[in-house]
Amino acid sequence: MDKISIIVPCYNEQESLPLFYEEFNRATASMKDEVEFELIFVDDGSKDATMEEVYKLKNLDSRVFYVSFSRNFGKEAAIYAGLKSATGDYVALMDADLQDPPALLPEMYSYVKNGEYDSVATRRVTRKGEPPIRSFFARMFYKIMNNISQTDMVDGARDYRLMSRKFVDALLDMSEYNRFSKGLFGWVGFKTKWLEFENVERIAGETKWSFWGLFRYSLEGIVAFSTFPLTISSFFGIIGFILSVLFMTYIVIKRLILGDPVAGWASTVTIVLMIGSIQLLCIGILGMYLSKTYLETKKRPIYIVSKTNIDD
Ligand code: UDP
Ligand code: MG
Repeated sequence: MDKISIIVPCYNEQESLPLFYEEFNRATASMKDEVEFELIFVDDGSKDATMEEVYKLKNLDSRVFYVSFSRNFGKEAAIYAGLKSATGDYVALMDADLQDPPALLPEMYSYVKNGEYDSVATRRVTRKGEPPIRSFFARMFYKIMNNISQTDMVDGARDYRLMSRKFVDALLDMSEYNRFSKGLFGWVGFKTKWLEFENVERIAGETKWSFWGLFRYSLEGIVAFSTFPLTISSFFGIIGFILSVLFMTYIVIKRLILGDPVAGWASTVTIVLMIGSIQLLCIGILGMYLSKTYLETKKRPIYIVSKTNIDD
């Protein structure tokens, strides 16, 4: 009998957890004779009663496991901890808020069980219920990313996916500190089946992502999966050099023909300002990569566990 580990990152999900558990059981009832489940709740330093809810579920159900972090390390860290703890032949990642419908699991399993695919990923085809400005920036992010990075990233892709052991081991081999799962999934390759579904709104509680949080996250994604921004400065340099040669020729010829009337203060200041700001921009980009390199070289742990019932 195959075993599927379900990883659920939870940050302040006290309202969603009981609903999640109920829906999960309903959705997987038809798979009972075929597969065995293991539910791993990764508590990402929740400040509410999330852990109490997890203990309740654990007392009800011996398939429930938990890893509780010492503080909030972010969803990426929670995913990594879950992948490390999972013992199943297949592993699925799923949000606690039921935005990743467990009802898709039987279909997902049908694609991986005979080895036809190594992972089944999901993508929402609508962004219904999301602020339009957020959708706009999200679309732009995927457009830019797919142009400047060799790694494929699919617009609307969720982290919800079912993976084979091979796929999970490949993910675990990447122990980088700056983790951007959407990129890592694409980077490891393997044969992936995409399933589409309509956007579902969160069942309870509220989203943990602010607009700026998402913006920072997207910058991290770019830094982690593309070095294109680093070449921008060379590009500016070449353009600037060509322009300055043209400009110099023009000034010399003008001087020979017209003499040397003192003028052009405004244009000088504009040019100085422009070159100065381009230099700052390029140093800033360098700084972004340097700071990530700095964090990687420290080799700090990706998360710290305070309580767990795994290995008991
Ligand atoms: N999450 C987490 N750590 C965080 C933020 C979120 O583990 O710092 C979990 C959260 O509990 C949920 C999932 O990640 O299970 C997705 O979060 P959310 O629903 O807030 O994001 P959205 O669906 O709005 O993108
Ligand atoms: Mg959500």
